[in-house]
Amino acid sequence: MRPGEADPGEADPGEHVGRALAAECARYAAMGWMRGTSGNLSVVVGRDPLRLAVTVSGKDKGELTADDVVLVDAAGRTDDPVRVPSAEAALHGRIAAVSGAGAVVHVHALAPVVAAERSPGGVGLRDLEMLKGFGRHAHDDLVVVPVVPNSQDMRVLGDAFEAGFRPDVPALLVARHGVYVWGDDLLQARHRLECLEWLLRFEVGIS
Ligand SMILES: [Zn+2]
Repeated sequence: MRPGEADPGEADPGEHVGRALAAECARYAAMGWMRGTSGNLSVVVGRDPLRLAVTVSGKDKGELTADDVVLVDAAGRTDDPVRVPSAEAALHGRIAAVSGAGAVVHVHALAPVVAAERSPGGVGLRDLEMLKGFGRHAHDDLVVVPVVPNSQDMRVLGDAFEAGFRPDVPALLVARHGVYVWGDDLLQARHRLECLEWLLRFEVGIS
């Protein structure tokens, strides 16, 4: 089974989703992209109504267990009496609803923030082999990754995301904050994130 793969009709995300989310977080934490308790990942576990399993708030993302996951609705709300979802869960829900993604990953890597700082109108990428890993062409295919201003209000962020959404660009840069990338599942989202992070390093000159 691919990491985090979930049956869309499944009521309980199950331990395998929690395990997959914890493993992905450990991988990104080891890359320095989830410092402190930053960043959050989610997997869609139901479509109608939309429900997501999202990583809990306030925990070291390199040390999550399969239990550190909470079910939320499209607005990031939960009935869970114990676990607290990330404050950014509502943006995960908005992205999953608008894009149809099955998994959304959000990390606080440095290169995306530097790139957004230099290109607040959107970061243009073209003629780079790694664009193929982002689902685009290596030549003559301009990819503009949208940038939105940071906000603590997830509705404001969600509106800004939706205004600039393009189905062929599965990523969003949040200025002075981080990056969101999505895909059909955690594995596709990971591959896109890793390739995009490389592309943005190239763009801003971080080795
Ligand atoms: Zn964040």
